[in-house]
Parts: sequence; C-alpha cells; structure tokens
Amino acid sequence: MIHDVIIIGGSYAGLSAALQLGRARRSVLVIDEGQRRNRFSSHSHGFLTNDGADPAVIAADARAQVMKYSTVSWLSARAESAVRLEPDEGTEARFAVTAKGERHLARRLLLAIGVRDIMPDIAGLAERWGRAVFHCPYCHGYELNQGEIGVIAGSALSLHQALMLPDWGPTTLLLNNAFEPDDDQLQSLAARGVTIERGPIEAIAGHADVRLVGGRVLPFAGLFALARFEVASPIASDLGLDFEEGPIGAVIRTGEMKETSQAGVFACGDAARPMASVALAVGDGNLAGASVHRSLLFGSH
Ligand code: FAD
Ligand code: MG
Repeated sequence: MIHDVIIIGGSYAGLSAALQLGRARRSVLVIDEGQRRNRFSSHSHGFLTNDGADPAVIAADARAQVMKYSTVSWLSARAESAVRLEPDEGTEARFAVTAKGERHLARRLLLAIGVRDIMPDIAGLAERWGRAVFHCPYCHGYELNQGEIGVIAGSALSLHQALMLPDWGPTTLLLNNAFEPDDDQLQSLAARGVTIERGPIEAIAGHADVRLVGGRVLPFAGLFALARFEVASPIASDLGLDFEEGPIGAVIRTGEMKETSQAGVFACGDAARPMASVALAVGDGNLAGASVHRSLLFGSH
C-alpha cells in the first residue's frame, strides 16, 4: 500500500497534522517511538483547555481522537531511515520509510520528530530535569509560587534567563565559571534585583539545593538552566534537508507552509521552529497537515 503521507513523530505536532489529513480522508501512517520532549514532567502548562494537565494524558487523548479516523494508522516503532525514491523505481510513491525492518511507502513525508535536550553536565541535574530544573519560565515559573529561583549559567545567553526570571521570584544567577558579566550586564542584573553567585557548582541535591565547591548549600524553589538541543533523529540530516542555526541549536528550515528545502518533505513542531510549546506544536501541525494535503492536490515545489 502507498500512503498519502507518512508522519514520523506522533506527539502534539504530528497528531495535529494527522487530524487535518484524516479529516480529509487521506491515508496517513504515523510512526512514533514515544519519546516526547516533555516526558520528564508530570504537569504541562500554557496549553489552553489543558492547563496543568499531565502531558502524557494530553498526548493519549490526542491519539485516541485522531485514531477514530479510519484512514489513519499507527505504528509504534522507531523510523530507522527515510529515503527519496527515484521516478524510475517503478512506483508512484516518492518516499520509503523503514521501521521494524519493513519498508513503508508514501507520496509525502512529514517530520514531526521533535528535539532532544542536551543538558548541562552537572551532577544531579539530569534526574531533576522537568521536575525541579527547567528551561522555560512560562511552562514552570508560576508554580514556584514566587520562591527563590536559581539560574545556572551555561554561557552569556543565560543573562536573558536571569533578567526574565525575577517576574517569577527572587532570582540568583549562578555563574559557575560559564561567563563573567561586563559592566553593562551587571547594571541590568542589578536593575532587576538579581543576586550573583560566583562559586562553582559541585552538585544539585535534595529538591533543588545547589551545593557549591567548598560545601556551601543554596536551597531554591526551582532552578533554570540553558540546555542545547538537537533535532531528535538523524533522518532529517540523512535526507539532506537544510537546517537553520539558532543560539542553542539548529532546527529544520521550512517555508511558511512548512515544506522543507526538499520537495514533498514537510516538517513541523519543535524540530522545525525555534520557539517551542505544546500550543505552538499543535498550531504548526495543523498548518503542516493542511499544507501536505494541498500539495497532494496541487503539487509541491
Ligand atoms: P515531541 O513532543 O518531542 O514529539 C516528537 C515525537 O517524535 C516523539 O514521540 C519521538 O519519540 C518521535 N520521534 C522522533 N524521532 C523518531 C523516529 N525516528 N521514529 C519514530 N518516532 C520518532 N511546553 C508547554 O507548552 N508547556 C509545558 O509545560 C512544557 N513543559 C516542558 C517540560 C520539559 C521538561 C520540556 C523539555 C519541554 C516542555 N515543553 C512544554 C515543550 C514541549 O514539550 C514541546 O514544545 C512539545 O513536546 C513539542 O511537540 P512535538 O510534537 O514537536 O515534539
Ligand atoms: Mg484507524
């Protein structure tokens, strides 16, 4: 069977696209290995109608709604490879995706594969990611109830986080030898009431207690850190897609209608936009789904 579209990634962005395409009665195969970016958190915030819900429940509800459409099918697996087929290969399919050792064919390909966060290498940080150590103040700042907030510097980019966070609670910038603010930066930090701590960090313990080298312990309600990220699967680079560099990672480059640098390949969600949230992923998937459908009808670039 040749699917109209294979969607790799069946989380918020991929399912939102699948919903559009299922509602157009197009045959869709969603391949997903279930590694959502926010799987470390038990509450998701800022997505209207589901504020505070368990992100796994949002994803499960979404999947149940989308799978009611009979032309949509689901494969729980890692897509190992995706290749473009040549016109002389005797099939009208343009793409082949291999998963669980089987080849699946489609006319269009949509990558909704998300990104993987690369956490700073500090003892005790990774196991607190999404629970007591965060990267997005809009997602997790409010619940800290205006308690003490620590910002773990990763580079001069952490200045931005440190200047934002006083809106959520009294903020300490833990420099951890990552950078030294210049005079202008020190002035902006002072104007926002940010405390500066220069002692290097040994480990994070307890809920969000920062233990400095030398033994001093600074307890916080929550910590923010700057993680770099990378697109979650090599499929995008293997296909030779163009990327767009950002300050903390590169995303797949798309046009306004979510088509990538290669005809017939679309991308949406965190993997294809620099600003990330559940709402934005759902909106991006909604657009990409309609765009894939349009390209099935009228051709792509
Ligand atoms: P993802 O949700 O990351 O899903 C990508 C899917 O693609 C995954 O299921 C993955 O397994 C699959 N996939 C990737 N490669 C393959 C492959 N080769 N084969 C098969 N499947 C594949 N946003 C909010 O709005 N509110 C919050 O409170 C919030 N909290 C967060 C907390 C944490 C700790 C983090 C890290 C992020 C948080 N976010 C939050 C951001 C949010 O998680 C993302 O914006 C959102 O998940 C993006 O959706 P997506 O569908 O693009 O990608
Ligand atoms: Mg079905």
